[in-house]
Amino acid sequence: MKALISIDYTNDFVAADGALTTGKAGQNIEAALVELTDKFTAAGDFVVYAIDRHDKADVHHPENKLFPPHNLAGTKGRKLYGSLNDLYTKTKDLENIYWIDKRHYSAFCGTDLDIRLRERDISEIHLAGVCTDICVLHTAVDAYNLGYKIFIHADAVASFDPVGHEWALGHFANMLGARIIDE
Ligand code: ZN
Repeated sequence: MKALISIDYTNDFVAADGALTTGKAGQNIEAALVELTDKFTAAGDFVVYAIDRHDKADVHHPENKLFPPHNLAGTKGRKLYGSLNDLYTKTKDLENIYWIDKRHYSAFCGTDLDIRLRERDISEIHLAGVCTDICVLHTAVDAYNLGYKIFIHADAVASFDPVGHEWALGHFANMLGARIIDE
């Protein structure tokens, strides 16, 4: 069994006026990411939207010192970007669609993702979204440590930092044994 983990493709991370935008790099993966998510959804595979959720008043959160406020609860910035939001809105009530509010980079950190995957006998996880070298990377490292087989969809991940993006793709393949799917 397999799952797609769709990470942080929100207005704040993708839209031109987003608080921490990946800009054109993020916008350029929209069609591939939506096609991939649609394919997993239609096949009945488990699709997880793992989305940053922050609170400006959370003074203990380290990201509040590292970044400007982003993906704040209840804001437009935290809504999924473009046609991914349309797809999610249409399919969110299906049994195989699951939304996770995450507080840290990794979709596994402080969430019930691992148990949700294990109770479905899922050992293979596919990662897509942004940023390749931050939230996708940290999710992949946790997945590796938990023993999952990892697939990275190269045309459906992006970063504001092209050097970090390329470095992360190499790290996924060479250090985490991930398969990079490039189609
Ligand atoms: Zn964040």
